[in-house]
Amino acid sequence: MATASTILVIGGGISGLACAWRLRQLGQPVLLLERSRCLGGIIDTVEQDGFRFDIGPQSFTNTQALSELIGELGLGSEILRADPRAPRYILKRDRLVPAPLSPPRLLLTPLLGARTKLRILSEPFRRSRPPDTDESVAAFVKRKFGADLLANLVAPFVSGIWAGDPEKLSLASAFPSVRLLEQRYGSVIRGAMTQRRENGGNRPSLCNFRAGLKTLAAALATKLGDSSLTEAEITAIRRAPAASRRFEVAYKLQGATQSLSVAAVVLATPADETARLLNGIEPGFGELLARIEYASLAQVSAGYGLEQINYRDAEKGLKGFGFLVPRSEGLRLLGTVWNSSLFPGRAAQGMASFTSFLGGMTDLEIASYSPERIGAIAHSELSSVLGVTGAPVAQHVSRWQRALPQYNIGHQGTISALRDLAARTPGIFLAGNYFEGPSMGACVEHANEIARHVARFCSVVP
Ligand SMILES: Cc1cc2nc3c(=O)[nH]c(=O)nc-3n(C[C@H](O)[C@H](O)[C@H](O)COP(=O)(O)OP(=O)(O)OC[C@H]3O[C@@H](n4cnc5c(N)ncnc54)[C@H](O)[C@@H]3O)c2cc1C
Repeated sequence: MATASTILVIGGGISGLACAWRLRQLGQPVLLLERSRCLGGIIDTVEQDGFRFDIGPQSFTNTQALSELIGELGLGSEILRADPRAPRYILKRDRLVPAPLSPPRLLLTPLLGARTKLRILSEPFRRSRPPDTDESVAAFVKRKFGADLLANLVAPFVSGIWAGDPEKLSLASAFPSVRLLEQRYGSVIRGAMTQRRENGGNRPSLCNFRAGLKTLAAALATKLGDSSLTEAEITAIRRAPAASRRFEVAYKLQGATQSLSVAAVVLATPADETARLLNGIEPGFGELLARIEYASLAQVSAGYGLEQINYRDAEKGLKGFGFLVPRSEGLRLLGTVWNSSLFPGRAAQGMASFTSFLGGMTDLEIASYSPERIGAIAHSELSSVLGVTGAPVAQHVSRWQRALPQYNIGHQGTISALRDLAARTPGIFLAGNYFEGPSMGACVEHANEIARHVARFCSVVP
């Protein structure tokens, strides 16, 4: 199974799969071991009672790295693209208000007060520079636009993307492009408008696959064939004795303890697991990785008959991306995606499917509730927003205690220290969503970069 030059990839989420695939493409012998029964990590698709529910991510932006991967896997014809003009809504006093996604709409929206609108209007003329220190998202928005914009618009989007706390998230790490706008143009609004003009006003489409996001993991699993094993949990890594520069790896394969000797190891595992596995190699990783906080999260996928939904647009199929909920509304829902409105094949004719998110950094408790209790809260709150009557036709609850790494203040420093330490630990490479961004596209891009580093390392170390 493993030869003298085998590279071991630990973890079969999108980061590990993409890295193993790229290593194969670069002509390297690779073996991927995944602890659970299936490949894909947090990404899964479940068929239930006529609904197709994506578990974990709901869509992806087709970045260059993802697009290349999809092309290599022959999945181009399987892609579905959501309408980029699909409105997003924000809940305000029990009403769904379209989120203003352009400067003119910001001035017209009922979500913001007159003083905030004045600050938006004058922002292009008040040139500023980002501070030298790592600024939180909340501090940035309050400095430029005030607390109203933060509470009613930015914080709900931050929950929707990061399940994060804007007081803790670092603007430079979590939204680097926004910081760059201020740096380059002195104004985020002027910068955003200039960039929009330059790219022809196009907003990127959100994508999925006909058969759900699992398609990507399944295609990678097929391509990797017997170079990947599931139900194979790595339990320990240590350097081989003598100066061989190899690693001895212990793992449990379907319960039985096994070992193998490999030339290099890529850890595509969450930060805490990576720290545990590297403890015997270089304990310094543990202190750095422990700084990365994770948000817990609960996700409730649900299907209803359209006749159960009394929201005014239900008849037209609830056109839109879904809605986000400011914390001031007093709900535990962070937001809900209207899956069957975005992509075909998510629900049968006359049905609608939704994915609701609860928890995150501003509600750490809920992910520890029972699935029944979480399902009941999501159903009751979704019913109050969309006027749903009766029970869901289908419901699927998922919970993660460590769902998403938080790119909080200081994250860039932690990552650069991790890079330095990894560079001083030959043969050990780190991949995963805590590094260069949690989106699927960012994971694939970083996995490609790591694969190239590993291939270079293996070409100089016999
Ligand atoms: C609820 C939710 C919604 C999201 N929505 C979106 C979205 O809409 N769009 C988007 O682009 N991104 C989204 N993301 C982010 C994105 O899905 C993740 O960041 C990405 O899938 C993580 O991939 P990964 O491979 O880095 O980690 P994981 O998927 O966590 O994979 C790590 C793997 O390592 C395995 N492992 C751990 N320890 C061991 C061990 N000792 N031995 C062997 N294997 C081990 C685990 O079993 C797991 O399979 C979302 C994330 C979450 C949680």
